[in-house]
Amino acid sequence: MSAAAAVVQPVLPSSSASTGVQQHGVLTADRVAGLLTGCATLHRTGELHAAAVRAGVDGDRAVDFRLQRAYAASGRLDLAVTLLRLTPDPTTVFYTSAIHAHSSRGLHLAALALLSEMLGRGLIPTSHTLSSSLPACHGLALGRALHAYAFKLALAGDSYVATALLGMYARGGDADAARALFDEMPDPHVVSVTAMLTCYAKMGALDDARELSMMKASGIQKEPGCSAVEVGRKVYEFVAGDMSHPRTDEIYSMLERMNELVKEQGHVPQTELVLHDLDEASKEKALAVHSEKLAVAFGLISTAPGETIKIVKNLRACSDCHAVLKLISKITGRKIVFRDRNRFHHFVDGSCTCGDYW
Ligand SMILES: [Zn+2]
Ligand SMILES: [Zn+2]
Repeated sequence: MSAAAAVVQPVLPSSSASTGVQQHGVLTADRVAGLLTGCATLHRTGELHAAAVRAGVDGDRAVDFRLQRAYAASGRLDLAVTLLRLTPDPTTVFYTSAIHAHSSRGLHLAALALLSEMLGRGLIPTSHTLSSSLPACHGLALGRALHAYAFKLALAGDSYVATALLGMYARGGDADAARALFDEMPDPHVVSVTAMLTCYAKMGALDDARELSMMKASGIQKEPGCSAVEVGRKVYEFVAGDMSHPRTDEIYSMLERMNELVKEQGHVPQTELVLHDLDEASKEKALAVHSEKLAVAFGLISTAPGETIKIVKNLRACSDCHAVLKLISKITGRKIVFRDRNRFHHFVDGSCTCGDYW
């Protein structure tokens, strides 16, 4: 048994009867690594870890890397880090995976500590390391240092790195630096546009926001946002303005009620986020039917009071939806677990675990 197995043994089940790996002959490192790919439940990861120990293939780098990733995916970041620490000479890939796992869950300090540890070992970051670390930078100083480093490594032009840099400057309130990156993007994605608009909105630079909306409204490739909500083991998908669900009438009544309630709490719809050239009322309507709001409305009418609402979205949440979901968690007393393109948000009692940085 390897040192790693000895440390994480408490999660190992005593039998691997249900792994289904023993029936297929010799258990090789490749086979275990293959089975671990995409594995995201703690029970299954523990089973495969136990099977790897019995077969003597724990300690294989591919197996260890995938175990680290599987423990992180199943929520046991502590075990993922333990495995990383026990891996002899971990490479950039091991660290990047751990940094991404922490940063995407809003554990920013831990993500940055891992980055610092990695750099301390003389390992060179990849574009993925940088784009995973930048969302963890709250202050501009560290973000600027990483930007300089990205330049030195000739990675600043990588589209993921550039998007992450733009987000970092936008969050930090340096609209000029964010805009400079934005203007250099050959094909700015909607994520970058939203980050830019949010930045302008926060700073009250509404003219800039309007100018950007108008300038880019025609040219931006917009992937349709889609939110999926889990109700009674079934998954229901919504796109913005969706009216295809059989309970559409009830969903829209709930949506209206949500709108009234959040306004009573002082919420002002962030209509400057709407890219189209519409009047205020139409912009409010466009915002109100964002897919994640529809998913929450459906969650509210179709689950028992007090039940957690779970939503997954393919894009980043806009700041209006983020603000509304926070208030809804407070008003209804519901916990809302929301996974967007970048990270997990746990909305509880009016606040979010991302600390409003996402
Ligand atoms: Zn939204
Ligand atoms: Zn959040």
